[in-house]
Amino acid sequence: MPTDNSVYSYSATLMGSPILLKLFSHNAPLASRVFGLIKHYEDLFTVNRAQSQVMEINHAAGQQPVAVSAAVYQLIKCAKAASVLPGSAFNLAIGPLVKRWRIGFKGDSVPPADEISALLDITRADEVILDDAAQRVFLARQGMEIDLGAIAKGYIADRVRDLLRQEGVSEGLINLGGNVQTLGTPLGHWRIGLKKPFSDADALVGAMDVTHKSVVTSGTYERYFEQDGQRYHHILDPRTGYPLNNELDSVTLISTDSLDGDIWTTLLFGAGVEQGCEMLKGRADIEAIFVTKAREVVLSSQRQYRFTLLDDSYRIID
Ligand code: ADP
Ligand code: MG
Ligand code: MG
Repeated sequence: MPTDNSVYSYSATLMGSPILLKLFSHNAPLASRVFGLIKHYEDLFTVNRAQSQVMEINHAAGQQPVAVSAAVYQLIKCAKAASVLPGSAFNLAIGPLVKRWRIGFKGDSVPPADEISALLDITRADEVILDDAAQRVFLARQGMEIDLGAIAKGYIADRVRDLLRQEGVSEGLINLGGNVQTLGTPLGHWRIGLKKPFSDADALVGAMDVTHKSVVTSGTYERYFEQDGQRYHHILDPRTGYPLNNELDSVTLISTDSLDGDIWTTLLFGAGVEQGCEMLKGRADIEAIFVTKAREVVLSSQRQYRFTLLDDSYRIID
């Protein structure tokens, strides 16, 4: 452990996001291995380029199954399991809707209702057919597309944590543009800021103090466009084909694995505060912080972290 507690920061831009690695000793070779690992997974999972393993599956929709690497298969299997839960707001087959809406990209606008309902017809997680023995994935209908955008960063954050651990690093932090995964710290805990919705980049509602935990936030303010005085953000409701619309501005998840954080932020976004808190009962390992449009901060519980309110226009409800 360093005696001066100096933090060494390494940054890169990958997956269209700013990536930040913090270590307590200077280790540029390790930082470049971390960024190399992130890039390796991005190349497998991306749907923002013509080619990747996931795009191979998408290109073969309605035609034939595609054999994929263990990481791709494992992540798709996990995403499908979350998608087929009753009433789930998570859907790995959301690709055609995401591509049509183009939210956060050039040319985004509200699609005609008949186009949305046609695309809903091919947004079917149960028609993502998995073959465990051959590690093959088949999209049963033509036009279907897998999109792992809501879950890939969580998976990758966990693999970075594993690599750091394997290399004997006991203290560090990786931030993949919203997915934060931490290993211990000589400072006692990591303090992770909770962003204030629709405000300056560095404005905070509060902060979470954590050790050895992942902190993931999904917010309606991250990527959106406005049309006719209405705001349309990038988390779509697979039940309607439109952006999820309820009392929430953001959901933050504290858990051991960032993969759980990714899945649960989407599930809870869809469920809302009341049903969401109900769903978390009996899950001691998974805790949520809901930030509502009415400026309430609802803590489902506070076992694995400590929350500090930093903006007094908000009030805590627990
Ligand atoms: P961020 O991109 O800020 O990390 P999220 O983790 O919430 O945000 O993921 C949003 C992305 O997930 C979208 O850009 C899209 O690719 C995909 N997506 C949108 N709606 C859903 C959904 N209901 N289920 C699964 N994935 C979704
Ligand atoms: Mg995310
Ligand atoms: Mg997410």
